[in-house]
Amino acid sequence: MASPDWKTYHERLPLPNLLNLRGCNVYPNCVLCHLDSQDPNHIFLNCPFSQQIWQTAGLLNSNPSTSVISIIDSLLLNSRSNSRTLVLRSASLCYILWYIWCGYWDYFFEQVPFAPHSILLKAIREAKDLCFHLRHPLPRQPRLVSWTPPPPFGFLKFNVDGASKGNPGPAGIGGVCRDHNSTFISCFSAGIGQTYAILAEALAIRHALLLATNMRASSIIVESDNLTVIGILIGKVNSCPWRISKIIDDCRHLASTFGSVVFCHSLREANAAADARPLLHFCIRPFYFVFFVVC
Ligand SMILES: [Zn+2]
Repeated sequence: MASPDWKTYHERLPLPNLLNLRGCNVYPNCVLCHLDSQDPNHIFLNCPFSQQIWQTAGLLNSNPSTSVISIIDSLLLNSRSNSRTLVLRSASLCYILWYIWCGYWDYFFEQVPFAPHSILLKAIREAKDLCFHLRHPLPRQPRLVSWTPPPPFGFLKFNVDGASKGNPGPAGIGGVCRDHNSTFISCFSAGIGQTYAILAEALAIRHALLLATNMRASSIIVESDNLTVIGILIGKVNSCPWRISKIIDDCRHLASTFGSVVFCHSLREANAAADARPLLHFCIRPFYFVFFVVC
């Protein structure tokens, strides 16, 4: 908070009335309009010179109970806002208060004319600069991310993942199959040696399709957190990296043998059950396991 704001809040703003109380011999009225009013609300809000600034800025409503303290309260309230509009508004309010303060004393000591229009322009320029240079991202609204079960008409859902430690590096794949009751049906996990991350992602999908074929499933959903591979499979991404083109062909062929196949992208948080990254330190040598629940 700028210094005049803090001092206003604590009634320690060095206005002429306070300075005179401390023994200074200062002109007791407002130096701009010469009214016998020296409280911060007059200087910052109600003085006709300051009012010109607020009227042009349009940042305050016409509520007569608006006070400098209520403005500072709103600044404090919005200081942690995640809305850039609110941050810009707060910064503008803050800089307007600051430049009114500077303008008042510039006129008092050096007879620099108090120019409402140029004060407002300076304040808005500073506020915009501040927001532009705020390099840290504003906090994002939290998003609810959760796994959703497949529809209750014979669908099984595979959440799959592939990862490599380095690109290329030791890689692994994993997957979990569940039904519409979220009941665990099977899972797989395998080390696939040294390879690329995207290849691991594609292999994980192919492996889920192979497993579903062995399980004689007719309708499946395959969910992966890799947007590229899913995009290729559903036709949203046209260019397929040559490293995975053969695997994608296999996936398409396998998919054609099911009654219904849906490929979906999910956020990593919703795909945690299949996360292959924890497997990577086992992946120096290829290994493989599949686990089924016998119903
Ligand atoms: Zn005045």
